[in-house]
Amino acid sequence: MVTVKDKVFAPFIEKTTLEQRIVEMGGEISRDYKGRNPLFVVVLNGAFMFASDLLKGVDVLCEISFIRLASYEQTQSTGKVKQILGLAETVQGREVIVIEDIVDTGLTMSELVSQLKAKGAASVEVVTLLHKPEALKTAIDLKYVGFEIENRFVVGYGLDYDGLGRNLDAIYVLAD
Ligand code: 5GP
Repeated sequence: MVTVKDKVFAPFIEKTTLEQRIVEMGGEISRDYKGRNPLFVVVLNGAFMFASDLLKGVDVLCEISFIRLASYEQTQSTGKVKQILGLAETVQGREVIVIEDIVDTGLTMSELVSQLKAKGAASVEVVTLLHKPEALKTAIDLKYVGFEIENRFVVGYGLDYDGLGRNLDAIYVLAD
């Protein structure tokens, strides 16, 4: 068990299990994108550790960019929208692969994918380490999913609880 701030978390996905699956995912992406020069877009902060390990196993010529998503209120009718910060590369005509830590409701990812398509990306695919199918609120095509998990709160391996716990080398789940 680990304590992060005021909560106790139990082991959920071991380090070696993560490593094995991530090597497989890198292999799949390498096969699918052979000769295609994709642009990886890593969503900070949560995906930093996953992206670092995943990309070591990707052996195609590629570029890697890092973005943050900032929530801001646009108008009352559209509600909260997420703005992409830090995307230095042009995505026009590029084959984009978004790297995310976890897809929960899917709302963040579906908006990001639409924004990248609107910027002229030739294709946009998603690779996520974790996915909570029960929490999904919108139809979204996730091409590469590391692990489908139940709808519980997890930390570690990049994922935080109130800013803490990102440095844990495995995934832990909130103990009940
Ligand atoms: P979505 O728009 O899919 O609901 O939001 C995804 C984002 O919510 C993730 O990038 C992550 O920041 C956060 N999130 C969702 N579930 C969890 C979880 O179990 N643990 C942590 N640490 N963050 C989560």
